[in-house]
Amino acid sequence: MDKISIAVPCYNEEPALEPFFAAVTDVAGQMHDVEFEFLFIDDGSRDGTLEKILELSRRDSRVKYISFSRNFGKEAGIYAGLENASGDYVVIMDADLQDPPALLPEMYRLIREEGYDCVGSRRVTRKGEPPIRSFFARLFYKLINKMSDAEIVDGARDFQMMNRPVVEAILSMGEYNRFSKGIFGWIGFKKKWLEYENVERVAGETKWSFWKLFLYAIDGIVAFSTTPLVISSVFGLICCALALAMILVVIVRTLVFGDPTSGWPSLVCIMLLLSGIQMLGIGIVGQYLSKTYLETKHRPIYLVRQTNIEKK
Ligand code: UDP
Ligand code: MG
Repeated sequence: MDKISIAVPCYNEEPALEPFFAAVTDVAGQMHDVEFEFLFIDDGSRDGTLEKILELSRRDSRVKYISFSRNFGKEAGIYAGLENASGDYVVIMDADLQDPPALLPEMYRLIREEGYDCVGSRRVTRKGEPPIRSFFARLFYKLINKMSDAEIVDGARDFQMMNRPVVEAILSMGEYNRFSKGIFGWIGFKKKWLEYENVERVAGETKWSFWKLFLYAIDGIVAFSTTPLVISSVFGLICCALALAMILVVIVRTLVFGDPTSGWPSLVCIMLLLSGIQMLGIGIVGQYLSKTYLETKHRPIYLVRQTNIEKK
């Protein structure tokens, strides 16, 4: 019998866990030929999430959990889920029911019968999201797809079912700065997308502020593209060329018209522009340097405080 592991990163999801668990066990109950494992990853929650998970694990022996020593972020939660899942197939799912469990049977069928390695999900609408956020999200996807060789799909959720080779491929990317959307695209494999209308979260609130999303977008670009470095070099080259041309103009003008001192306001503008471009260039280099610095420390992606999973 096949086993499906459902990995659920949870951060302050106390009110959502009960309806979530009811909904997935309901769908799981309809899939008779499969065994299930529910793997909750408590990402250092500050509310009663862990107690709730413990209660679920007492009620249902298929419930496994890992509790982190602090909040490590959803990316770390996903990694821990994949690393500790024992199923033949692994599904990543949010705890807030924004990922419809009703898609599970179809995902399983596509993998089993149609030979896909991975079935992802994509929301085709952004209903219930502030318009300004949707605008920047779209802009981000346009930008990163121009700059990166990993295919990053607009509206793609982390909600997906993967077979073992895909799980192993993701785990083999042991980088510290994890940007899952990029990693999923980068590994390749045969992937099928299921589309659905956006669903609003069942309880609690989103953990993403605009600022957090902005920083996450920068992380994504730095992790999956070196184009910003090229752009800053090109900017440097253009500035040098412009400066050379202007030097020639000034020399000629001085020799022919004898007017060496006019135009210092334009000089100030040029100085400001150039120093701005320089700072931008240093900033871009700094971003890459700081990520490299963090990678070289080889810190663990997460630390476990409590779990009911036995070490392999
Ligand atoms: N999450 C997490 N760690 C965090 C932030 C979020 O494990 O630091 C989990 C959260 O509990 C949820 C999922 O990641 O199950 C998605 O979070 P959220 O619903 O806030 O994101 P959104 O759906 O708004 O993009
Ligand atoms: Mg959500």
